[in-house]
This record gives sequence, structure tokens and C-alpha cells, in this order.
Amino acid sequence: MTSPQSNWVRVTRLNPCPKCGKPDNCSVSLDECLCWCGRISEGAIDKNAGGQFLHRLKDSDHASHAWKPNFDQPHQQFEPSRDWGNRAEYFAQNAAARILELSQQLGVSFASLTALGTGWSVNRQCWTFPERNGEGKVVGISTRDRQGQKKRITGSKSGLTFASDWREGTGPIFLVEGASDTAALKTIGLAVVGRPSNLAGVGQLTDLLFDIATDREIIVGGERDQKPNGSWPGREGAISVSTQLAEALDRTIGWALPPDDAKDSRAWLQAMPELPVERLADLFKTGIDIKRVNPPITLTPAPEPKNTLPLNEWRATMFQDRLQSLGHPGIYLDHSPTGAGKSRVDFEAIRVLLQRGAAA
Ligand SMILES: [Zn+2]
Repeated sequence: MTSPQSNWVRVTRLNPCPKCGKPDNCSVSLDECLCWCGRISEGAIDKNAGGQFLHRLKDSDHASHAWKPNFDQPHQQFEPSRDWGNRAEYFAQNAAARILELSQQLGVSFASLTALGTGWSVNRQCWTFPERNGEGKVVGISTRDRQGQKKRITGSKSGLTFASDWREGTGPIFLVEGASDTAALKTIGLAVVGRPSNLAGVGQLTDLLFDIATDREIIVGGERDQKPNGSWPGREGAISVSTQLAEALDRTIGWALPPDDAKDSRAWLQAMPELPVERLADLFKTGIDIKRVNPPITLTPAPEPKNTLPLNEWRATMFQDRLQSLGHPGIYLDHSPTGAGKSRVDFEAIRVLLQRGAAA
């Protein structure tokens, strides 16, 4: 289906030339090992009639297992089972052509999808995305078919979608819904973690974000998915998740809807004009209206004053016991004065007994 020519990918705005950084006139091999650059001649290993210079970007040995020229993979009869990390890696092998297809379909960068561990399942004919727990372990795999329908591989759990460098940089960390929104914000260089749905993932996010400095903003990204009946899952989820995280992490958490009335982050990116990614990142950050949720105020209770009543009762009981043990029941005890301890009880018992002895 895919022609051999598609071993070479023309650079675009979102996938610029790694040699000259421009969005046109250059091509990169699918394994990202070679580049025909139309501008940079220095260090080239070859030149073509079209005025392009061939550069070796990296040693093909490192990537040889990640890409093979056979785009139509043989039927996969074996998929490593239940070790979701192995399975996700298996899907990510030989998937470059499919990942490129998805990057074009979604309007996100090829690099963002590979960083998220995107793969392709031949058996299912769908893209695969590893989902991780708060410690980074792959706990499940979500899928997306060519019609955009999303599922999860049976037996796998839901988790977070993020790249190994998710926390790099100093800007806000966005917590958006789903793999494609995660890829969209990663495409423009923002720190981002994908949530499995509008409401899920709070426990895993708590584990993942526990040591993020409180002066670095964390923003839950909602979606404009209002329903005709008035419900708004994306907004409700953003409020719920930010409120729960504020409490669990004991810090302020923001939430926001995408800029410019876009449905979600990916739709926003797709609608934007061709601009450098840094500019797009600025427009995204300045275009959102951040609502902030503070952690609930927890008053540390003052140490409870010692309850004097049980102590007095104890004293009284002890006093009576001592008297009764000596065969003198029925003694009236005035225990209104407080503040005395065991020695006072002893003293009073002895005093009463002495008085009685004197009276006898
Ligand atoms: Zn170039």
C-alpha cells in the first residue's frame, strides 16, 4: 500500500528539517537516520541534482530494529501477552509509516507520537498508545482505529499517557484528555500528561506529580464537549480532577478550557495558522482562562485539653475503693476541688480514716 518513495518524508511546519530547521525543501528518512537538506551543505555525504545535500543524522544500526522497509507487516501471530510494556514496544516497532499517517491525520508531529510510544497493531488495524501508572510502568494500551474510534486492549488497565521527558522545562504542566491532545501539546513543546478520560486517573496523577514544585503551575485541561441535555463532561471532569488533586497534593491546581473556543487542544492546533511552535505555545498559554482551585483549608486542631471529668471520677472511685477496702463504707466525699493528683487522694483517704479513728 505504501510506496517505496514514502521511505522519505517531506519536512513540514510541525516536522521541520533537523538540519536547517526549515519547514520545506528537505526530506527525512522514515528511520530518521538520513536527511536530504536543501540548504545545508556542510558535512554532507552526498548531493543530488535537485541541489539537496544528504546528511547522516545517526547511525542506522541504532534504528534498524525500529524500521524495516516492509511497510505491510506480515500478520502478527504472536503478541507478548500481559506484559503491557513489552507489548507496547512490540507495537511500536515497524510502525513508522503508520505513525506518520496518524501524525498527518491528527495534525501533530511525528516526534510527539513516537515520544508517547505510539504503535500499530496489524491484527487489530489500529494505533496503540501505552498508558502508565504514576511510577511510569505501562499498565495498559489504548487503541484508535482509522475512523477515530477509541478502545482499550482487553485485560489492560487505564493509565496516563506521557513521554519520558514529560516534566522537562519550567512552564506549566498540562493534564489533558487522551493521547491525541497529549500529542498536540507535546508538538508545541509544552509539558503534558494525558488523562485516560474526563474523570479518571486522579490516583495515578497524585503519584506522578507529588514532587512538582508548588510554584510550577499544574493545569487540568477540559474539553468543550457540551451535550444537548446540558451536561458537560469535559468541564465537569476538569473541575472534579483539579479539586481532587488540590486536596491530594495539598496545593493549588488550575483548570482551563482550550483557547479560542476550540473543542480540544488538538482541534485548536489544527485550526491555527502556520507559526513557529514557540509562538503557538505562547498563544496557547495566553489564550486560556485559568480557574484555580485551592486545597481545602485544614485547621490543625489545638491539642485537646485533658478531660477533667473522667479523672475526677477516677479519683472518686479510687477514694471510695480505699475506704471500702478498709471496711468503712458510706463516707461522704466532697470531690469538688480539682487539680489534685494521686497523692491528694491518698492523703484525703488517710485523713478521713484518721478522723474516724479519732472519733471512734
Ligand atoms: Zn533542511
